[in-house]
Amino acid sequence: MTRSVDSGLTRAKIEVLRIDLRHELDQLRRDLRQLWPTNVKSESAWISGDAHAGRADQAESEVRDRMRARCAQIVAALDRIRRGTYGRCSVCNREIPYERLVVTPVANACKRCNVLDSWLNPDTSWIGE
Ligand SMILES: [Zn+2]
Repeated sequence: MTRSVDSGLTRAKIEVLRIDLRHELDQLRRDLRQLWPTNVKSESAWISGDAHAGRADQAESEVRDRMRARCAQIVAALDRIRRGTYGRCSVCNREIPYERLVVTPVANACKRCNVLDSWLNPDTSWIGE
């Protein structure tokens, strides 16, 4: 055994992270619903930002954008768990250390590749890619 067992990502550890992510997503969706303009037709359109937000106050729309960005990150992370690619760097394909995933469960890149830095930046323009 050359590698540390503690930093390895086991199924049980992923399950713990998955439950946390689910809870956070549920909470975010509840919060988003409260900010929901009445003219939006579907939750998916709302979360993806396709719907017209109407005349939202600037600060309010920034809060919503952040929440939507967070939702998108969590949905993507849950999707990676389902597909079995969770915990792998999307850039270099190395395993992301468990310690990093505990702090940032939505991370899809290792610290070296550091894609996440742009996510944590207030500029969320990457969402529309
Ligand atoms: Zn990497």
